[in-house]
Amino acid sequence: MIGFRNITAKATQSKGRIFKEVMKMAENIQTRPSSDMAAFREKFDKAKHIVVLTGAGVSAESGVPTFRGAGGFWRKWRAQELASPDAFADNPSLVWEFYHYRREVMGSKEPNKAHIAIAECEKRLGKQGRRVVVITQNIDELHKRAGSENIIELHGNLFTTRCTKCEEIVKNYDSPICEALRGKGEPTPETQDARIKHEDLPRCKKTSCNGLLRPHVVWFGEGLYPEILQAADRELDECDLCLVVMLSLILYLHVYEGCTMRDVQYVRYLDI
Ligand SMILES: [Zn+2]
Repeated sequence: MIGFRNITAKATQSKGRIFKEVMKMAENIQTRPSSDMAAFREKFDKAKHIVVLTGAGVSAESGVPTFRGAGGFWRKWRAQELASPDAFADNPSLVWEFYHYRREVMGSKEPNKAHIAIAECEKRLGKQGRRVVVITQNIDELHKRAGSENIIELHGNLFTTRCTKCEEIVKNYDSPICEALRGKGEPTPETQDARIKHEDLPRCKKTSCNGLLRPHVVWFGEGLYPEILQAADRELDECDLCLVVMLSLILYLHVYEGCTMRDVQYVRYLDI
C-alpha cells in the first residue's frame, strides 16, 4: 500500500520555524495519508528533481542488523552503547569488533527491491534530464551496490575509515580490516571480548602517522558533517518532490532540524 500527502513548507531564515513547520507536516502525514495513486503518478511524472530519503527500514528488508528495538543486541549491547566517542575511547577493541562484524555481515546481504527500484528510477529519469538523489541514514552501501550514483550518506559509511591522528579519510574494503580481528566480532552474548591491543587494531597506513583508525561513521553524540548537511540541504531546497522511504518519518525529520525546505511535496510510502 502506498499513502501520501502533499505538504508545502515555505523557506524561512528561522531554523526553529522551519523545524516546527516540518514537525506539523509530519503529524499530518502520519495521521492522514492519501492513497490516491493517480494523483501521486501525476506529481511524480511532473517532478524534475526528486530526493529519496531512506533509513534503516530499507536496510532491514535486506536483513541488515540495526541493533535497535526489541532483540536488537550485539552481545549485550545496543548500537547506541557502542557507537559513541566515549565507548571508543574506553574500549576501541570492543567497538572495532562490533564494526568488524557489521562490515563482514554485509558480504552476505544484497540490495532489495526498494534499493533496486530507486537505482532504476535514477537511471531512467536521468535519461530524461531529471535528477534523482538518495539521501540516506544507512551506512551499508546497499544503495551504491544497487546502482544508485547520486547518494548523500548522512551518517558516513561502514567501509570508510578515519585516522584519529591525521584525520585522513580512506575507503577500506579489507576483510578482515586487520589480522587481529580475523574471526572476531561474534554477536552472541556469551562471546568473550577479544581485548585486542591498541597497536594491533586498524592503524593509519601512512608510516609517518600510524594513528588509530576509527570507522568514518557519525556516532551518537556527534554532529553531522557540515558539508554533508549543506549538500543535503541544497538538494532538499531545490527538489520538487521528496519521497520518504523509512519506518519513522518523525525520527528522520529530527535529523533535518536546520535544513531549509521550500515547496517540497512529501510522499510517504507504507509497507513497500
Ligand atoms: Zn593518520
